[in-house]
Amino acid sequence: MPFPREVRDIALVKSHRRCCVCHEFGGRNVNVHHIIQEADGGVNALENAICLCLRCHAEAGHFNSRHPLGTKYSPRELKAHRDQWWEHCLSHPEEPLGLFLDVRFKAISRTAEIHRYRLIATYTNTMNEAQDSWKLKICFPAFVPLSADDYDRDEIRIEGKAYVQLESSSNDRIFPGESVDIVPLKTHFIEYEVNDSVYDQLREQHKVSWKLYTSNAQVIEGDKPLSELQEF
Ligand SMILES: [Zn+2]
Repeated sequence: MPFPREVRDIALVKSHRRCCVCHEFGGRNVNVHHIIQEADGGVNALENAICLCLRCHAEAGHFNSRHPLGTKYSPRELKAHRDQWWEHCLSHPEEPLGLFLDVRFKAISRTAEIHRYRLIATYTNTMNEAQDSWKLKICFPAFVPLSADDYDRDEIRIEGKAYVQLESSSNDRIFPGESVDIVPLKTHFIEYEVNDSVYDQLREQHKVSWKLYTSNAQVIEGDKPLSELQEF
């Protein structure tokens, strides 16, 4: 049996129609999924409901236990993702108005001494109108060995600490509902290495921060502790 309509509605509203695992805006492509399958005794109630995008829904549902590659999603993990995301949505009621920037750090190579990461920033236009341009400013602590292609660079100080600020912009139009990778993988990139001297610095709290300006939405600001980069 599917969830009753009112359970689905509450789950969709509490999630801002975003996937509780990857936080992508789902629009009509979001599913309300059972955390514990009905065949395993899961109930058709809100406590057992999670909103997932099509990709995460397939990942969570189609795990083949005879070929256990990767890490299976456990019901407990799914529930933790959901509770964390619902809490976030509750404390950020302004986000469904259309501002969503997902910033991640993808590991691209690892040796014993050096880990290299690439920055991925995906912007989703959830406004009802197209945006004609965007500009991204992103600040890294100055001790991080950065390489970047096609970015303007400035050295700045925030609260006495040195940062390198990289700036990139585009006049490409972003249509309503469209997701755009604003750090495109081919034309330009931001990469950095985590080596021994960087690990030493990481004991202090250092952040990567960003601001995204678009033609007709308010500025999106965010930051993430640099130490979290190692988790990806
Ligand atoms: Zn997802």
